[in-house]
Amino acid sequence: MSVIQLDEVEDHERFRAEMASIASDGRRRWVYARQVHGFFTRWRTVLSWLLLGFLFLAPHVKIGGHQFLLFNILEREFVFFGIPFWPNDFYLVAVLFLTGIITVVLITATVGRIWCGWLCPQTVFMEMVFRKIEWWIDGPPKQQALMHAGGWTSTRIWKTALKIFVFFAISFAIANTFLAYIISSDKLIADVTDGPLQHVELFVALVTFTFVFFMVFYRFREQACTIVCPYGRYMSALVDESTIAITYDYKRGETRVKWNRDDTESKKDSIEKGLPVARAEGHGDCVDCHQCVTVCPTGIDIRNGIQLECVSCTACIDACDEVMDKVGLPQGLIRYTSLNNVENGSSSIVTPRIKAYFLIWLAMMGLVVTLFALRSDLDVVILRQEGTTWVQTADGTGNFYRLQIINKSSKDLDFSIRVLSPAGVQFKNLGLPSVVKSGEVMKGRFMLIAKSNSIAKTGTKVEIAILQKDEIVKTLLTSFVAP
Ligand code: SF4
Ligand code: SF4
Repeated sequence: MSVIQLDEVEDHERFRAEMASIASDGRRRWVYARQVHGFFTRWRTVLSWLLLGFLFLAPHVKIGGHQFLLFNILEREFVFFGIPFWPNDFYLVAVLFLTGIITVVLITATVGRIWCGWLCPQTVFMEMVFRKIEWWIDGPPKQQALMHAGGWTSTRIWKTALKIFVFFAISFAIANTFLAYIISSDKLIADVTDGPLQHVELFVALVTFTFVFFMVFYRFREQACTIVCPYGRYMSALVDESTIAITYDYKRGETRVKWNRDDTESKKDSIEKGLPVARAEGHGDCVDCHQCVTVCPTGIDIRNGIQLECVSCTACIDACDEVMDKVGLPQGLIRYTSLNNVENGSSSIVTPRIKAYFLIWLAMMGLVVTLFALRSDLDVVILRQEGTTWVQTADGTGNFYRLQIINKSSKDLDFSIRVLSPAGVQFKNLGLPSVVKSGEVMKGRFMLIAKSNSIAKTGTKVEIAILQKDEIVKTLLTSFVAP
């Protein structure tokens, strides 16, 4: 196997051999992304504020007494959109998780990394919060680069201190929100109010997560997407020539030739009047201005084609459209389209692969809907009390049982228990309450007493009914041990 040396790679092919943010000697190549304005950036900004509002508020919203979203992996308690899931609902959580993965696969194969550019918390925080704060404190990218290249002047010191303070404060807010999703906002507020000495583990978790988030947004940045995130890695296995992605129309753009003074002069009238402008014979529409590269938060050149490092943030579309407007050429040299569309005008995205994914997705959704429809608000488990067989009582032969009732509904439930069959078997309460509170697990004991001759042999099934307001809501079978 021959090894390609980096210095043998042509400059224009270098993107295949090394990452934009890592120099060939392994050092970090800092990306100073330029601020961009335009149609997509505007809508991404609007969506980001909505998402951030949702992210910070959702743990404090309650539906029927349950937190709107809760992912308590420590106690295996999950709440999705106010619906609680218990450990015995684990199969449902697993099916939901699988359906989520299939949904992501289907969406990625169809419209690429929409998730990364528009919805992922990493991109939303990095591009819409932290980078904007950085522009505000440190100034535009050129100024930032000059400052970093120079010495530690007083300006650089106070700017860096201010930036660290603000980044840390936001990271602290994110860490609190993250923990509110894990341990619940009620517990978080209660523990924080008690003080760090009462809940050292919470304090350690808060400090650790704050530091991790701070480092991700202060130093690690785009490398979280390009090096760590597994989604970016498996994306290459999901997209093909029919996938809609942010694509440079190389047929229209090449051969790229810089826009020069002659172009400006000769086309000035047409540009001012908004008339169509044509480039010189053999010149593509790309004016090689590098604006699409300077706005890219991962430092890549989209003109090299679809790349793993592209997080589909749309910044290069807006940057290029702005340039096209200035030179009087049509927008859309970089746009959402498929490679097939660029190459042969085909706009079909429904390939056999997409159809197969869609069928699997439909089947999974069908399963989810069915499981939800069959899911009861009341989970009842009856087990024979361990270490017991039968006892003789004044009323007949008795067996001891353990009962567990989980009330998954948002209301307190009254219940009673009755034996349906065989005749002659009685239910005896051994301290069971008659109400299970919403979201609670009730555990207790009872006894079944069989009058003489009503049960002749061990293993006879006894049918028990759980009733609410004299209406049977659940029936269960258990077996009886006879002398
Ligand atoms: S190539 Fe364009 S869409 Fe991809 S990350 Fe860079 S700026 Fe964003
Ligand atoms: S912004 Fe548009 S015109 Fe400028 S280099 Fe990029 S693709 Fe070419």
